[in-house]
Amino acid sequence: MKKHYQVTSGSALRCRGWRQEALLRLLENVLAVGENPDELIVYAALGRAARNWASHDAIVATLKTMAEDETLLIQSGKPIGVVKTHANAPLVIMANCNMVGQWAKAEVFYDLQDKGLICWGGLTAGAWQYIGSQGVIQGTFEIFMQIARQHFHDSLAGKFILTAGLGGMGGAQPLAGVMAGAAILVVEADPARIAKRLENGYLQKAAATLDEALALIEAARARGEALSVGLCGNAADIYPELVARGITPDIVTDQTSAHDLVYGYIPAGMTLEAVRDWRKTRPQDLMAASLASIKKHVEAMLTLQQRGAVVFDNGNLIRTQAKSAGVANAFDIPIFTEAFLRPLFCEAIGPYRWMALSNDPQDIATIDDYLLERFPDNAALQRWIRLARENIPFEGLPARIAWLGHEDRTTLALAVNDMVADGRLKAPIAFSRDHLDSAAMAHPNIMTENLLDGSDAIADWPLLDAMMLCASQADLVAVHSGGGGYSGYMTSAGVTIIADGTPQAAERLRLAITNDTALGVMRYADAGYDIAQRKAASSQLHYFNIH
Ligand code: NAD
Repeated sequence: MKKHYQVTSGSALRCRGWRQEALLRLLENVLAVGENPDELIVYAALGRAARNWASHDAIVATLKTMAEDETLLIQSGKPIGVVKTHANAPLVIMANCNMVGQWAKAEVFYDLQDKGLICWGGLTAGAWQYIGSQGVIQGTFEIFMQIARQHFHDSLAGKFILTAGLGGMGGAQPLAGVMAGAAILVVEADPARIAKRLENGYLQKAAATLDEALALIEAARARGEALSVGLCGNAADIYPELVARGITPDIVTDQTSAHDLVYGYIPAGMTLEAVRDWRKTRPQDLMAASLASIKKHVEAMLTLQQRGAVVFDNGNLIRTQAKSAGVANAFDIPIFTEAFLRPLFCEAIGPYRWMALSNDPQDIATIDDYLLERFPDNAALQRWIRLARENIPFEGLPARIAWLGHEDRTTLALAVNDMVADGRLKAPIAFSRDHLDSAAMAHPNIMTENLLDGSDAIADWPLLDAMMLCASQADLVAVHSGGGGYSGYMTSAGVTIIADGTPQAAERLRLAITNDTALGVMRYADAGYDIAQRKAASSQLHYFNIH
């Protein structure tokens, strides 16, 4: 039976309190905006909201009946039980896809998944924090703007960005490129994904052929106009074709699901039907075909880099896969975190977001207005909020992302809680963040690559973060590790806190949000970053600085 995926509106509660109702609406939301909800898949090829439908239904039933002094325990998307705790404890705690070190490999994951024993929650899928493509859009936009500052005198007008992948996260790329003022070409193997991004307003045009796509890009470039063009094709064919034609874009990246050789990447020369069939019947051959294709794909990226393009890895493990396929210099391509965003993470400035549980866009507009008034000197925030409210269509529950840091995140959350209390907002607001955040992620090939002190692979930080968030009264706390192709590559912590207008919510927001960002600053201070050490001092954090 085909299920319908809708978000719930209004102020009527189906649960015993707003905290439980909020988490239920967030679970509904990740399916409503997810890529393949019939299979509970939200994004990144295999990132699931729950283990299976029985687990999903039991979670929903529990959220509807559980009391405020209880905690629901979830293990890899399956509810295990409810324990009696107290009204200041998290309502939901989850551990998703954490395998013991030597066993944390893609093959072991697939086997456990086939046996129904594990599922991967991605970052925000399993923790019900996904908000559609907007969740990653400011990160992509800030990367493009940082490249503009570093390489192109502050402007991407007349510049050509080449990328690939229009999935759950990759779908943000065309809009981020346009917001940054560039002409952006996105290669995508699945025509349905192109259609979806055209429909939801993230992509402006689709081209039938490479020639047509290049003509559109060239015309926009010549006029200095922003434009996004989708092209149905395989990146491992199109990138080398541009190399062969001697065309060098200004900026090159990729956001195909290259992290997963079976369920993510589409090898060149194969139809989507054949790939779907091989996933079940010939997974080993599919892995080999994906690797061979990624090799060509990354070799073309390296050639474009040698010819002068600014090339970066946007967090999909494509360099790691290419290296294992024999591309010895794959890591000549830098990772976006180290190249562009680390100074922000040092001050715990990262992908903070909030969702309007009323399902009313006016609530987000009210918070946008507050931000513009409250932070007049934050130029990046002012620019972002103005661009976002003009350009970003909402998907599912209206939501906003903004890269705020330590103290500012708490200031906003407490002000919003007051607005819920006095009725300026129609219903509570859920606060969350991406797991790719200062204290929250150890991922030596993405988030923590080349840290100053070499602590890239130490996963103590996200574990400490999650335990601290439980002690700080957050409503939902999750510890995730990588699944599929990410198996063994990462561990992260997720958090959600509900601003329901009560004094208890104010306390939860103050503790959980402040402590989360404080630990983020301390993590980078501990790794030796001056910016973080200065921030720890100016914020009077109780940080020991022992080395
Ligand atoms: P997704 O699975 O929803 O979409 C991937 C898309 O790539 C699909 O539409 C697929 O058809 C397309 N594709 C696969 N192989 C292709 C090829 N060879 N040529 C052209 N198109 C191809 O995944 P997503 O959620 O969009 O995430 C994409 C990648 O980005 C993942 O590896 C994910 O882990 C990573 N990611 C990075 C960040 C970040 O912060 N930078 C955030 C989220 C996700």
